[in-house]
Amino acid sequence: MKPTRREFGASALVGLAAKADRKISGGFVYESQERGHRLRDKARFASPTERVKIPVVIVGGGVAGLSAAWRLQKRGFHDFVILEMEDAAGGNARSGENNVSAYPWAAHYLPVPDVKEVLVRELCQELGLLLPDGTWNERWLCHSPQERLFLHGRWQEGIEPSIGLTKNDVAQYRQFEEHIAEWHASGAFRIPMDYGLDQAAAKARALDQITMGEWMRREGLYSPYLKWFIDYSTRDDYGTHMEDISAWAGLHYFAARAPEDKGPLTWPDGNGWIVKRLLAKLAPFVRTQSMVYRIQQQRKTWQIVTEKALYDADFVVFAAPTHFASWLVDPAPPRWPIDSAPWLTANLTLDRWPANHGVEYAWDNVIYNSPSLGYVVATHQNVAMHQDRTVWTYYWALADGSPTDQRRILLGGDWAWWKEKILTDLQRAHPDIRQCVSHIDIFRIGHAMPRPVPGAIFHPERLRRARPQGSLVYANCDLSALSLFEEAQSRGVSAADYVLRNISSTGTR
Ligand SMILES: Cc1cc2nc3c(=O)[nH]c(=O)nc-3n(C[C@H](O)[C@H](O)[C@H](O)COP(=O)(O)OP(=O)(O)OC[C@H]3O[C@@H](n4cnc5c(N)ncnc54)[C@H](O)[C@@H]3O)c2cc1C
Repeated sequence: MKPTRREFGASALVGLAAKADRKISGGFVYESQERGHRLRDKARFASPTERVKIPVVIVGGGVAGLSAAWRLQKRGFHDFVILEMEDAAGGNARSGENNVSAYPWAAHYLPVPDVKEVLVRELCQELGLLLPDGTWNERWLCHSPQERLFLHGRWQEGIEPSIGLTKNDVAQYRQFEEHIAEWHASGAFRIPMDYGLDQAAAKARALDQITMGEWMRREGLYSPYLKWFIDYSTRDDYGTHMEDISAWAGLHYFAARAPEDKGPLTWPDGNGWIVKRLLAKLAPFVRTQSMVYRIQQQRKTWQIVTEKALYDADFVVFAAPTHFASWLVDPAPPRWPIDSAPWLTANLTLDRWPANHGVEYAWDNVIYNSPSLGYVVATHQNVAMHQDRTVWTYYWALADGSPTDQRRILLGGDWAWWKEKILTDLQRAHPDIRQCVSHIDIFRIGHAMPRPVPGAIFHPERLRRARPQGSLVYANCDLSALSLFEEAQSRGVSAADYVLRNISSTGTR
């Protein structure tokens, strides 16, 4: 149970007494930019000492790579290996833990899948999330209160602004909801997105030619509160402002899912909870600290090279970010047209809860007009009766200006500089935050997720690579230009199905 309002009051007084800022420890985690840049620059790597012949190599152990492996294993195929460059698999769904709580490093929830999302439901059944009677395991449905917004100096329930709205603002919200209901009914927006693309009429395709901001103007949607909310949503899901994003992607966020009153599925460790359970079955296939630095086509096979081993394989499932293929694969594929957005996440350990004004702490806590996306309380799903300490996972998509410039800012600031940025942002809603935080770890993700800018969704190169062909198939969720668990899973499973259909003809199965 989180502190009651009265306890918040008491902690505010403690805050006032403790004038001096606490000493805050911490540092950066998972700093792999240098290795990535060495790949890009085709630097020299040590030659492998071991040679392994294996029918299938999966490059990248994020959700897409693990889902490909999940499918292969479930179909009784075991002649494969997953090569993951980091110390641990999971990619953007990795998690951490300290003596207060487990916490996510990036992906932190899975929306409850509707009946058409058969793959996600299959996995949910396997993990005990979807129960045999068709109900959802309440333990992992997000507990109330789910979301709140700091607006006009106090917290309100829900993320959609509701304080200070004029009649016109309210009417514009309704107008927007009507558009969404219409698009939802059209069937053009689905999850996984490929199901809807087949049905995408010219009207839906045209949305990919303009930005979400332009679409809003064309529809006469000018309410500042509504614009903030839409922009928050596109930054949250795509790391990109609504003025830069394809209107198709902006609308997909709202129109792809049926209005659902159940909360998302979430865990203290975020989607790391799912990764841990996948790894319980797949760990024997995973080789961590195995960065692939070259994938070279031979006559009918592929050589996949790491500093430890050289693998000879018939099929490669390329589940690492797709733009890496231009650096690794020989012969190099055409240029990948989709840029990626830089993000920063941080896990803050709090020795006590800051004072609170307005409604009580929620799972997701957002500050109006902040450059960040706010924070998720990692201990929210904790059923312990009393929580003195907590961990907050803080999210910031660096969306202003060009991604290249933003990456420079991301990597240019040292830990102390970023720590100050984070605390200054949080201080607007929590003036005593500096007296509460004892530790901040920061994760800088230079190429965190694809940016679905206008033209990305129907780009011929995206559509070509998303259709498996040949003996190297792509699987990362960026193939969808939408960074979602469901897209990563579906891409991984499609790649595995394609391999299974074709590998027997090569005689290696
Ligand atoms: C901050 C943030 C928050 C997010 N929150 C959510 C959320 O709440 N819910 C949600 O559904 N989605 C969320 N996402 C989207 C998330 O990216 C996807 O859900 C999914 O986890 C992506 O999986 P992936 O396997 O496609 O890609 P990645 O997670 O990027 O996995 C790629 C893997 O390839 C490895 N790799 C790269 N290069 C090499 C190489 N040369 N050799 C070997 N291995 C290599 C990487 O180390 C990594 O493990 C979030 C993303 C970010 C950045």
